[in-house]
Amino acid sequence: MVRVRAKLVSWDEVVEWAWGLADRVRESGYKPDVIVALARGGYVPARLLCDFLDVENLLSIQSQHWTEAAKAEERAIIKFPYKVDLSNYRVLVVDDIVDTGDTLRLARDYIRDTWKPKELKTAALQWISPVAKFKPDYYYIEVKEWIWFQYPWTRLEDTYQFIKRMLQEKHKETGKTTWTLQEIINGFKEWYGIDVGEKYYKEALRILQEKQIIKQDPETKTITLIKTT
Ligand code: AMP
Repeated sequence: MVRVRAKLVSWDEVVEWAWGLADRVRESGYKPDVIVALARGGYVPARLLCDFLDVENLLSIQSQHWTEAAKAEERAIIKFPYKVDLSNYRVLVVDDIVDTGDTLRLARDYIRDTWKPKELKTAALQWISPVAKFKPDYYYIEVKEWIWFQYPWTRLEDTYQFIKRMLQEKHKETGKTTWTLQEIINGFKEWYGIDVGEKYYKEALRILQEKQIIKQDPETKTITLIKTT
């Protein structure tokens, strides 16, 4: 049974969606002089939009969710704040997806107040309408039911985090601590409903070992969870 709904997004889909997003911007008559890629998810879509909208100027800013010490809630922050004068430019800030919307909204506010562009619009490939507190000016796909989009640029990171979550959860539910590679692969496919391929599973496990979350035994070919929470 699938526990977390996920969709594997292909490079071809990314190009198709970015093309569709560029169409929306073009149709509106907005002609940005500068595109701002929202790091890190917005990098690839922003670069494609530069091509599809014939924009030469590409900047970036990183906005990230940050867990405040001693507080359960998370808030978005601008990770490396800096200042540029964009008062003569029309700007389009681009991200991959608007989920809660905190990230893009914060970046939009920061750019508006600090870089002071002549005009500022926001764009994302996807917008999760039922949960987002913020609607971008342009989006290509309206997602009506929450799902995790496994983009090609976070494949490995998502894979090791997904495996970690699955093993810790399985441990909590059954007390089990040791698995074979095949059991983990089968479990992953069942939990997330996607298959990222053996190369990713193996590298993800190497990373989890490096982070001292699991331990791989080359002799018994088993994987043991060390960090259970
Ligand atoms: P947000 O909740 O809108 O602030 O999302 C922050 C960032 O997290 C997005 O720009 C994505 O890179 C990533 N993200 C959030 N939700 C999803 C999702 N459902 N699928 C894939 N990536 C996501």
